Amino acid sequence: MIRAVVWGENVHEKRSQVVADLYPEGMHTCIAKALQDGGIQATTATLQDPEHGLPQARLDDTDVLIWWGHAAHGDVDNAVVERVADAVYGGMGLILLHSAHFSKIFKKLMGTPCNLTWREAGERERLWVTSRHHPIVRGLPDHFELEQEEMYGEPFGVPEPLETVFVSWFQGGEVFRSGLTYRRGAGNIFYFRPGHETYPTYYDGNVQKVLVNAVHWAANPEQRIVDVHAAPNIDVAQALEPITARGPKLHAEGEDGFR
Ligand code: ZN
Repeated sequence: MIRAVVWGENVHEKRSQVVADLYPEGMHTCIAKALQDGGIQATTATLQDPEHGLPQARLDDTDVLIWWGHAAHGDVDNAVVERVADAVYGGMGLILLHSAHFSKIFKKLMGTPCNLTWREAGERERLWVTSRHHPIVRGLPDHFELEQEEMYGEPFGVPEPLETVFVSWFQGGEVFRSGLTYRRGAGNIFYFRPGHETYPTYYDGNVQKVLVNAVHWAANPEQRIVDVHAAPNIDVAQALEPITARGPKLHAEGEDGFR
């Protein structure tokens, strides 16, 4: 069974009555239940947990990490961000939801500002499937609507994705690439736009289907790469074809390189 961890910042739920009424157990719990209903072994972690609930041993046992953050991106410990990035490079799947576009981990993995335009006006969002038969859209219609959502508009400051799985249209006229896949190292990454905290988006059947599909897509069954930063200096004697060292050189045989 695929092991997923749903990471929730869990700040709006405590500060806003609107959000607390919508998600009394937190958005992360709502998402985890949807994944469990989809046959995934899903647990939760929050910003407030020691090490944000993501110590190394837990990441080692996680196939896919789902990330929702917004108000407290800056409070996420940089050491945890590095740890998550290394897990992704080693093969852990990562799914970034909605305002996680500005999370430290997404910005690090994208290497770009990840900025966008936005408006909180309860607009209808229509998501269009742009990659038919992609595993992430399995069982979905060619388009579906969310009656109320926050608008995110282009230009979205991310690198060109591996695949664009959804684009969104909003009532006010903006469009947005709302489902994007990437690969970083051995890790599969999916950014999925919907999920503003004041709307019941994570109760929507189509959204839940996307999340379940995305976890299955992102899970990498291969063994995790252990030292993703290894850069060994290969001895002349170990060359696959016989060679003799020649010319000037800076490094001694077998010496570590600079970092
Ligand atoms: Zn939002």
